[in-house]
Amino acid sequence: MALVTLTFDDALDVHLDAAMPIMERSGLRGTFFVNVGDASFAKRHLDWIAAAARGHELGNHSVFHPGVSSKPWVTEGIALERYTLDRMRHELVVASQILTMIDGNTERTFAFPCSNPWLGEAGWPRRLLTRIGLERTRLMGWVDRFGLDFGSTLVDYTPLARELFVAARCGGIEPGKLPTIPPDQHRVRGVAGDDQDLPALLAALEKAIAKDAWLIFVFHGIGGGHHMSCDADVFAQLVATLAADPRVEIVTFMEGAKRCWGGASGNG
Ligand SMILES: [Zn+2]
Repeated sequence: MALVTLTFDDALDVHLDAAMPIMERSGLRGTFFVNVGDASFAKRHLDWIAAAARGHELGNHSVFHPGVSSKPWVTEGIALERYTLDRMRHELVVASQILTMIDGNTERTFAFPCSNPWLGEAGWPRRLLTRIGLERTRLMGWVDRFGLDFGSTLVDYTPLARELFVAARCGGIEPGKLPTIPPDQHRVRGVAGDDQDLPALLAALEKAIAKDAWLIFVFHGIGGGHHMSCDADVFAQLVATLAADPRVEIVTFMEGAKRCWGGASGNG
């Protein structure tokens, strides 16, 4: 029996208005990783409270959704290069506190914003090589291998996620490479659901069933609402297929994590 989890990032209105109604028609619930600082989350907070009461999981996706400064929407104040572990800890704790006000839960799962577990800034050798277009060369490999990235403040904040959350989801994985149980409870990899047609999504499902794996779909927009989006009809057909298939069980990310690793471990 394969486990399947539908996850949705970024607290979009279309999650409330499209994804949830489609899932609920089939009796399914999903996991919504919300960045609580988003203006639309504040505006629709009563709807999010109601969604949680209907059984959807609200996961932590930070307050401000920090990203690397090369992304066009990332301003100075939310640039990961300027984050420290302490700053990130404050932000994630606050986001969880707000979510507790929304749904009353005290244990929480997390999705790394931009699937990126790194914060801080590369040192000058790495920045220089990137600037002159040599970031994909052996030179960069040597800088990393021999610890030559002088002045680097880059830190992997997965240990912080380990401390604060039951489990955490990060970036995409090929459906064929899905392990039965993900090797790291705080680096659980999802399969991209955005911009896929139905056969591609069902092919991922069949691969998960064949391997008795835990398949986690990662969605952003549903029928729009984000530059990465899944067509609403495709999503509806996927949901109907999942609900009717006796070989799969649909669980929230929290439930899936507890099924794989038990209830007690990893929660700080
Ligand atoms: Zn996000």
